[in-house]
Amino acid sequence: MNDLFQQDIKFLTGVGPKRAELLNKELEISTFHDLLTYFPYKYIDRSKFYTCRQVNNDLSYIQLRGKIRNFRMEGQRGRKRLVAEFYDKEGSISLLWFHGIKWIKDSISEDREYIVFGKPSIYQRQIHLIHPEIDDPSKKEGKLSSGLQALYSTTEKLKTNYITSKTIQKLQQNLLEKVAGQIHETIPVYLVKKLNLISRKEALINIHFPANAELLKKASFRLKFEELFYIQLNLLKLKTNREIKFKGYIFSKVGEHLNNFYHHYLPFSLTEAQKRVIREIRTDLGSGKQMNRLLQGDVGSGKTLVAFMSILIALDNGYQTCLMAPTEILARQHLTTLSKFTKKLDIEISLLTGSTKKAERRIIHENLQNGRLSIIVGTHALIEETVLFKNLGLVIIDEQHRFGVAQRSKLWKKNIHPPHILVMTATPIPRTLAMTLYGDLDVSVIDELPPGRKPIKTLHYFDRQRNRVFGFIRKQIEAGQQIFIVYPLIKESEKMDYKDLEDGYESISRAFPPPKYSVSVVHGKMKPEEKEASMQHFIAGRTQIMVATTVIEVGVDIPRASVMVIESAERFGLSQLHQLRGRVGRGSAQSYCVLMSSVKLSNEAKKRLQTMVRTNDGFEIAEVDLKLRGPGDIEGTQQSGIAFNLKIASLGQDGQILQYARNMAEQILEKDPGLTHPENNILVSRLKTLKNTSNNWSVIS
Ligand code: ADP
Ligand code: MG
Repeated sequence: MNDLFQQDIKFLTGVGPKRAELLNKELEISTFHDLLTYFPYKYIDRSKFYTCRQVNNDLSYIQLRGKIRNFRMEGQRGRKRLVAEFYDKEGSISLLWFHGIKWIKDSISEDREYIVFGKPSIYQRQIHLIHPEIDDPSKKEGKLSSGLQALYSTTEKLKTNYITSKTIQKLQQNLLEKVAGQIHETIPVYLVKKLNLISRKEALINIHFPANAELLKKASFRLKFEELFYIQLNLLKLKTNREIKFKGYIFSKVGEHLNNFYHHYLPFSLTEAQKRVIREIRTDLGSGKQMNRLLQGDVGSGKTLVAFMSILIALDNGYQTCLMAPTEILARQHLTTLSKFTKKLDIEISLLTGSTKKAERRIIHENLQNGRLSIIVGTHALIEETVLFKNLGLVIIDEQHRFGVAQRSKLWKKNIHPPHILVMTATPIPRTLAMTLYGDLDVSVIDELPPGRKPIKTLHYFDRQRNRVFGFIRKQIEAGQQIFIVYPLIKESEKMDYKDLEDGYESISRAFPPPKYSVSVVHGKMKPEEKEASMQHFIAGRTQIMVATTVIEVGVDIPRASVMVIESAERFGLSQLHQLRGRVGRGSAQSYCVLMSSVKLSNEAKKRLQTMVRTNDGFEIAEVDLKLRGPGDIEGTQQSGIAFNLKIASLGQDGQILQYARNMAEQILEKDPGLTHPENNILVSRLKTLKNTSNNWSVIS
């Protein structure tokens, strides 16, 4: 990119310092390049004209040709508005303005013909065009305009400062007139030819001022492809670089421990999905490359067993493994589960967390360093400088979205060679998003639950039906089951949320009084020891009800908990609801998820609750989530440090283009892993530019 495109937007004709500041604040447009890549969100056909008689309020944008008369002021002091009559040969319709009144009155003359354009809407039970665009047909159209008019999103603040979609369009025109000659190709010529793409210059002109529908389609494809292609190329390049730079330890043996476990101690037969994933992992571990694999599997799909069998492969080949969990409780739970297996196999395993006592910690450090200890389970405590391994061969990270990339790489530093890495997550991510977020990892999916699991039943109740829900809870408790009741906690309304939680806790304690019942409470304001103790009470079955904010750990296994009540469920996102629901359904009893909400629901909230009631499939839910909210808000996106901010492509809609872009990037790297062929120079320099000019990019690597 040359300097012209990095020029401050205030230097563009029609902008100036004041508008520049607004554009910057409201739309993050501060350079020519930013404006040029501020793409329209939709287009309207302005080749068609309607007549006044055809107008009804079901139409979206319409365009009429006629004259304007009878200007008059209506309304009281503060709510004054300007009304005028627009008419053609067939009839008339009202135009309406709330501001800019003087300017409108002064600039329109009654004897001239105008083109008005706007969306018919009802105001005081009559059809109006409110703040229509008004053009003088005698004025020459700009040479870049066409029948398809781009619409740009703006904000209230921009609109009140007279920067409308139309204004932005005008600015785009000024900009293109100035820079079009300098727009250079950013994709190698051979690729442009092979894919039959239009040039970057043509694409940028047509995305803002489509010459026709066909060229608009081509422009949009070209720009979407380019955007997704460079993201994929960057990710796959990272992967390739890693493969070139690092050799992986080769775990070639299928040894004694794995065989022994598989033939004598496997507590159940593996699901087909588990078998497939273990095969994939074994292939990686024997390949001579360093494994970097993401293991996705819904809650309860049996990831732990896969992890354990991977640990045994490392062990049989003489290497150590560490398993990291995001919290102490989860780490303990992993230790408990794994200890059941290791005891039988006579293998040492230890736990290292923040609360491990000094003396014990010293022994663990020693045994890791001299190699006597081959399996360590723990939390962040594992990445402290003092922890050193003799030969760490495998790192398993549970619930990756809470571990940053930087933290992951700390483990790398412990070794001469990087260990194999298996990242496990129960957050289902749509394929397109996984390809983008974790595009430099290989992905395995456990898409099957162990047999005999009863699917969780999900019910939606309104707040006034609370008594019925309480009755249901009593029955469940009588049957020996435990209950979660979760309240939302959102930072912005923290005080109110805690009030809700307190009120809720009180009313639940009243409805479920001692000595017959006992209720635990856990929330973020408690001290860690208090939280832990309260949690342990519930896990041990000493309390029947756990009232909590969302602090209930992902992955915590409490088989006797069979009911998850989610208060104000409309305030939770889909992935959060799904995660919470996954806290139950671990035992043999029928489990339930009860979504409580008020009667007033937004369409989106309704859709979320309906989706939860309809399906238990985490991937299906993730797809709906992606479509509803876009990728920026999907769980796991923020935590991994990549706030997705695609300018034109959409992960919800452009999955096919994404796959195509990834395939192309793969093919190119296969032929030219270092991107050293002259024809690929442009790829290298483009990657560099993107890294330097975009915040999102710098965090990917
Ligand atoms: P997650 O993927 O959520 O970590 P877990 O590994 O905790 O799931 O497994 C959930 C439960 O399913 C555990 O109680 C585990 O013992 C059981 N399980 C795992 N694999 C199988 C299987 N193949 N057949 C039956 N039960 C299984
Ligand atoms: Mg788990």
